[in-house]
Amino acid sequence: MTEKIENPLTRFYDGKFEKQSQEAPALQQKMTPVPDCGETSYKGSGKLAGRKALITGGDSGIGRAAAIAYAREGADVAINYLPFEEADAKEVKSLIEAEGRKAVLLPGDLKDETFTRNLIHDAAKELDGLDTLVLNAGMQQSVENIKDLSTRQIMDTYTTNIISMYWAVQEALDYLPVGGSIITTTSIQSAEPSANLLDYAATKGAITSFSKGLSAQLASSGIRVNTVAPGPIWTALQICGGQPPEKIPEFGQQESIGRAGQPAELAAVYVFLASNEASYVTGQVYSITGGSFFA
Ligand code: NAD
Ligand code: MG
Repeated sequence: MTEKIENPLTRFYDGKFEKQSQEAPALQQKMTPVPDCGETSYKGSGKLAGRKALITGGDSGIGRAAAIAYAREGADVAINYLPFEEADAKEVKSLIEAEGRKAVLLPGDLKDETFTRNLIHDAAKELDGLDTLVLNAGMQQSVENIKDLSTRQIMDTYTTNIISMYWAVQEALDYLPVGGSIITTTSIQSAEPSANLLDYAATKGAITSFSKGLSAQLASSGIRVNTVAPGPIWTALQICGGQPPEKIPEFGQQESIGRAGQPAELAAVYVFLASNEASYVTGQVYSITGGSFFA
């Protein structure tokens, strides 16, 4: 089968976005347009056959695109998300099961150390093993002035985005086999921090360094660690405080490609990094930005 060549400028939604906002955490199914996570487009070819993956933030956005792709590549998939996001998560469960794969829903708050440690063991129990860990959950709240940044927000952003990764990896090492893969989600914000995202961008800088350092620590065990750095991707995180509401209509249009990215455009990289094909890839940052350079 051949696929026709497509124009990257217009392959996905390239118009202005309607102004919209929800309380955090937002439901992606209530967004206009609904983010494209590859529900109707991703085609698998057995690249992850028999694999057992846990994806945090797998209900929506980038994590959901990875979850759908992993199932279509033959993996059983557990997803973690916040209890409020159950409606999005149930859609992902149906999509995974439609591929004949096992879907495990493990809702709970990654800011809770006991929950996060147990999450890994629960995923490994339900999946009968764990070889792929995608640490993708994150929160982002725009605040213009550092004086208005509350201690609560700083602590929540750090705990969710980076501190929970230490807890998850500590437990996951009980299970990850030789050939296992850890993939984190960092951001272009790690390299190009915005003035209104001082807490978020700093956690993304930390995720990049954590992932590189962890790759060096684990390489001799045959476990690879890489991180993905997205640019502006149309997801729920952006419309529940991630961006100032007045910036939503133009979201992503400043990139060379001229539009926001869709989660579906990242899925193949999460698949590649988990797969045997990436056997010589560890400690790397894969940026998918629509044009911005990750330096
Ligand atoms: P999203 O809102 O669809 O996904 C983020 C998920 O994180 C949520 O669905 C939620 O389940 C999870 N989450 C947040 N706080 C949590 C908590 N305390 N406990 C458990 N789960 C929690 O948005 P997304 O854009 O797909 O985000 C996925 C990752 O991509 C995040 O790490 C984000 O920082 C990163 N990222 C996004 C963009 C973008 O433009 N959308 C750009 C760069 C990086
Ligand atoms: Mg969500």
